[in-house]
Amino acid sequence: MLVDSHCHLNFKDFNDDLDVVVSRAEGEGVGTLVTICTRLNEFEQVLGIAERYDNVYCSVGVHPHEAENAGDVDAARLIGLAAHPKVVGIGETGLDYYYDNSPRDQQQAVFRAHMKAARETGLPLIVHTRDADEDMAALLTEGTDGGRLTGVLHCFSSGRELAEKALELGFYISLSGIVTFKNAEALREIARDVPADRLLVETDSPYLAPMPHRGKRNEPAFVVHTAARVAELRGVTVDELARTTTANFFRLFGKAHAPASGAPGG
Ligand SMILES: [Zn+2]
Ligand SMILES: [Zn+2]
Repeated sequence: MLVDSHCHLNFKDFNDDLDVVVSRAEGEGVGTLVTICTRLNEFEQVLGIAERYDNVYCSVGVHPHEAENAGDVDAARLIGLAAHPKVVGIGETGLDYYYDNSPRDQQQAVFRAHMKAARETGLPLIVHTRDADEDMAALLTEGTDGGRLTGVLHCFSSGRELAEKALELGFYISLSGIVTFKNAEALREIARDVPADRLLVETDSPYLAPMPHRGKRNEPAFVVHTAARVAELRGVTVDELARTTTANFFRLFGKAHAPASGAPGG
């Protein structure tokens, strides 16, 4: 069984066939999904999807792209929303200096509020980071200095130094379909070296469909292609990779329940 640790099932790409998408994932052995919140004004919709399916969980948080318009986001608000039993993580949150859709100081302030909420709830932080390796390493160091804090660098596409820093601080690394792309050799080298007990897989669907679906709508079932590529890189069977990444997921996301074996939720 595999877990898609990061997808966006509330995006309009899934408006017409979400039931089919969720059951197709189960059919491929992708038994647990986490649908990720990017704005507080979509949280109710995201939570509604998690409540509709036994095997779907969700997060609460504000994407760095949205930081500029997230004036009222503070740790207390996030902590309140995270009390729901289906909310298993804080995020996605972080720094995106590639697009710079929000001013960097606001991205950092919003990220700090999320780190505080993650520390106080004990929930894992779901981190989005792009072209911000140095500042992210500094902020994660600051965040972990402030108390117990753990989480995952999702859709990892940063450099080796940030990977090593995050691992040293106790974080996990999640690989998306990018690892299957032709030009991703540097990422594949990192993917080979992440300790087996710190690795997760995800789709980030509807974006970033792995080969052989690149360019099409991505969906949770396609995490099997990413898992197969990562298993091949690491010289382990797909079953072995599924077993370890799924165990890692349930260790990190302690609020989520593993489905009883042989009886997928519905
Ligand atoms: Zn992201
Ligand atoms: Zn995302």
